[in-house]
Amino acid sequence: VQAVFRSNLSHLLELMGSGKESLIFMKKRTKRLTAQWALAAQRLAQKLGSVWRDQKQILVHIGFLTEESGDVFSPRVLKGGPLGEMVQWADILATLYVLGHGLRITVSLKELQSNLGVPPGRGNCPLTMPLPFDLIYTDYHGLQQMKQHMGLSFKKYRCRIRVIDTFGTEPAYNHEEYATLHGYRTNWGYWNLNPKQFMTMFPHTPDNSFMGFVSEELNETEKQLIRGGKASNMAVVYGKEASIWKGKDKFLGVLNKYMEIHGTVYYESQRPPEVPAFVKNHGLLPQPEFQQLLRKAKLFIGFGFPYEGPAPLEAIANGCVFLQARFSPPHSSLNHEFFRGKPTSREVDPYLPYEYSCEGMLERIHAYIQHQDFCAAPGPVPPGARAPQSPFVLAPNATHLEWAQNASSAPGAWPPAHSLRAWLATAGRACTDACLDHGLICEPSFFPFLNSRDAFQKLQVPCDSTESEMNHLYPAFAQPGRECFLQKEPLLFSCAGSSTKYHRLCPCRDFRKGQVALCQDCL
Ligand code: UDP
Repeated sequence: VQAVFRSNLSHLLELMGSGKESLIFMKKRTKRLTAQWALAAQRLAQKLGSVWRDQKQILVHIGFLTEESGDVFSPRVLKGGPLGEMVQWADILATLYVLGHGLRITVSLKELQSNLGVPPGRGNCPLTMPLPFDLIYTDYHGLQQMKQHMGLSFKKYRCRIRVIDTFGTEPAYNHEEYATLHGYRTNWGYWNLNPKQFMTMFPHTPDNSFMGFVSEELNETEKQLIRGGKASNMAVVYGKEASIWKGKDKFLGVLNKYMEIHGTVYYESQRPPEVPAFVKNHGLLPQPEFQQLLRKAKLFIGFGFPYEGPAPLEAIANGCVFLQARFSPPHSSLNHEFFRGKPTSREVDPYLPYEYSCEGMLERIHAYIQHQDFCAAPGPVPPGARAPQSPFVLAPNATHLEWAQNASSAPGAWPPAHSLRAWLATAGRACTDACLDHGLICEPSFFPFLNSRDAFQKLQVPCDSTESEMNHLYPAFAQPGRECFLQKEPLLFSCAGSSTKYHRLCPCRDFRKGQVALCQDCL
């Protein structure tokens, strides 16, 4: 069935259920952004033209909102607790719905079980059942619940799962045996999923898929209004919880000489003692009012925690300069660094990268849904004794490898293999950085093409010997000893990671302006 774009979100709002404060927050957001989603759908439909889009049946199980996982977030929505995750889940649901897919949403174990067809009372049914979903989006809590309650189906269908993972999971932490042997064990890691099945809040390493979120867009009139409507010297300080303000008095005192300081710190009955008296504290604001506040301010200031969230992007999109504390040198000597020159003298236009707009998010997730397939048989991996001829040639300037023009284009490969360019990085450089050095982005799905003696040979790397081992930095070349190393475990292919011992062999690709997750020919 062909998926058809939807622009009326009222059915989605029903699907989202009710009751919990977190769901109320998410629904308010979805409602407010309805017009933006509809416009974005229209634009993307035009851009994609007549391209066929499969309609998928999708289950979204938001594990951290289930009572079974403790649901620690919902009660804190109105008290300064984390909201970034809820912003992101609201936008994921809207994206999937607007793209026209079949959608089920669950926020309890019971609903999960009934949607998976697990008979009630048969908690961990050992049978494999047919799974009525093509895709499941969940988080770490949900993953744990599925593992416990899906029996053998979990193993069979794990390739259909996508894990919303705020901070990301690097390959070395994902592979159980390797993580255990090399000290990468954590409370979150070693699910042995394809690292691209983890979807992050920001595009940290391309080893994971960048899910992202939406920062609300402004039209020209609004931008004009913002330019004119700025108060002359107003700063908003990041931090909904009073504890974040602790020990910042001196810093705030200096800031207060130049700027009127506003905050949105949650409080119960009286002003929290951590917040100095000269700060205009509005208390925790509803999201639209918080954004109105940003429109009047010229400066948005982070104390360095939380490190990552939607608010800084929203601030920039509303015409604020965003200042973030540096930890080196430590906090006490920061003031000096912050106040060289007047921060308000710089004119910043409201700016929002395409990938954080509704259309950008729709485009990206559309491409993932149509092209990412982790259930297919693994690609041309085996780095065996008889290494296959790699389909590359040395580029004319002899610095890197390119896809050979006459090589068959690896059917089904996505991103398409002809966008590949491969470099031998300098010692100590991670592939993420090595590719950026060439204005490109590392593409982990290309590692298998590179993982051969032939690739080293074509790059004229002087290998005296070649070994195949498990190491997240391989394929790589070690100068002393002139040893070349191939990767033995496909799950450990990693863009992230470096060691001064190795020159890593790095697969890079181009990317679309304002949409790093997609290569030029990826749509
Ligand atoms: N926000 C809000 N009211 C406030 C302050 C922030 O609704 O008083 C919203 C803000 O618009 C942003 C979201 O909270 O979309 C997440 O903010 P942050 O970047 O602080 O991430 P978090 O740490 O909450 O995950």
